[in-house]
Amino acid sequence: MSTTPDKPLFFRRALRKRCPQCGEGPLFRAFARMNETCATCGLRFRRESGSQTGAMYFCAAVSEIFAAALALGLYFFTDWSTPVALGIGTVLVLGFSYLFLPVSMAFWTAVEYATDVSNGERWVNPRP
Ligand SMILES: [Zn+2]
Repeated sequence: MSTTPDKPLFFRRALRKRCPQCGEGPLFRAFARMNETCATCGLRFRRESGSQTGAMYFCAAVSEIFAAALALGLYFFTDWSTPVALGIGTVLVLGFSYLFLPVSMAFWTAVEYATDVSNGERWVNPRP
């Protein structure tokens, strides 16, 4: 089989928290806790230790962008004192970071899978 892999499909599946390969098996068994393998097709989601390091960096980078945008928004659009803005801003950034973590993990799983498909790794078998 030599069809062009549908990489956007891998990302759509992962962001729906499904296996990037088959689109069926759930990525997570609980909040931010990934399954080892896909229950449907058997794909190993975390192929090596440290494979989610990219997800951690991605989550941190997006959270910093959110924090910067929030800081500007609070500065320009509120008349809150610095302690109030810092207190509320910190809670909002921590909440955002916590809620974004599984999205980041799913995104990074799709990045790794798309890379493995591009490299023609023997274990990949993309389903249409
Ligand atoms: Zn699967």
